[in-house]
Amino acid sequence: MPLIDLLGQDLVKVRLSSMVEKSRVPPALLFVGPQGVGKAMAAFLFVQALSCPERQKGDACGHCPSCIQVQRQLYPDLLIVEPEKRQIKIEQIRELQDFISFAPIVGERRIVIIKEAHLLNQVAANALLKTLEEPFATVSFILLSHRHSLLPATVLSRCLMFPFVSLAGPTIVQILARQRAAGELGEVDLEAAAAWSGGSMERALFFLDEENLRWCRNFIDNFSGLPGSSLGAALDLAQEASQSDSSEVLFFLLRSFLHEAMLYAQEVEASTLCLSGWSDKAAAFAGLGVQPLLAMRQQLLALERGQAVNINLKLAFEAFFMKIVVTVAV
Ligand SMILES: [Zn+2]
Repeated sequence: MPLIDLLGQDLVKVRLSSMVEKSRVPPALLFVGPQGVGKAMAAFLFVQALSCPERQKGDACGHCPSCIQVQRQLYPDLLIVEPEKRQIKIEQIRELQDFISFAPIVGERRIVIIKEAHLLNQVAANALLKTLEEPFATVSFILLSHRHSLLPATVLSRCLMFPFVSLAGPTIVQILARQRAAGELGEVDLEAAAAWSGGSMERALFFLDEENLRWCRNFIDNFSGLPGSSLGAALDLAQEASQSDSSEVLFFLLRSFLHEAMLYAQEVEASTLCLSGWSDKAAAFAGLGVQPLLAMRQQLLALERGQAVNINLKLAFEAFFMKIVVTVAV
């Protein structure tokens, strides 16, 4: 697939393809934006366009040996660095420095893609910074991150930023339909998956599984019924939450639901995010009042941050849900 077929990121696409066309590529690019909106895909398509000997109008041909090598991640001038156990370590930066110290083998430049760059630990980030400060004409870095504010300012200042946006529902349906046409998906409900995805392809793929969709609907039903219910209900729900297969999706659902309720509480027109069938429940939940909702959102964010440092998720969810049970409508 060439760069032109990347869907939902038109501004980024135009900038990247113009760089390829002019052969003017900065030493470091930083792709930022939510998870699952095509940052990694864009990076590979960009590398493909840069290295294709048959390229035209800033894009790859998509089928020459070089393009195929990039698609299969076997291109000799491309190195991919990804976190190991949620960290990018100094050893990986040393490997990368070794990789760029050699001249390109087949193309005009060597390219390094660093996935989840915000997971560089401090020592690794410092080492990378030194490399970025002494750019090679034949080397480019592409950093990908959905939490780029965690990167050191010194690293950020060395990168040209490319903001990626959440994908619109119809775009997600279009991408899924393309995958289905290629035989990668069976008969699945594309619209429902897109409606629940909140603009992320990763979540859309999660919701293609009917069981996942059912589980989430049920979970949000139970969550919205917490105020005034029993402590047992809170404990059961905490048990379920802590056993969820995808905490990213779970936190996204809770955040979205609280956001929706907050809009109702402040009498703002409900958002278009509107996950199927939630409006009534969010409107009822909004009756708890703005202050309690704000407190819940704070607590949820703290819980989400804690999850990254391995707190006991079940206990934390229990505390969070029990507090909601005893919250009384104003
Ligand atoms: Zn090609």
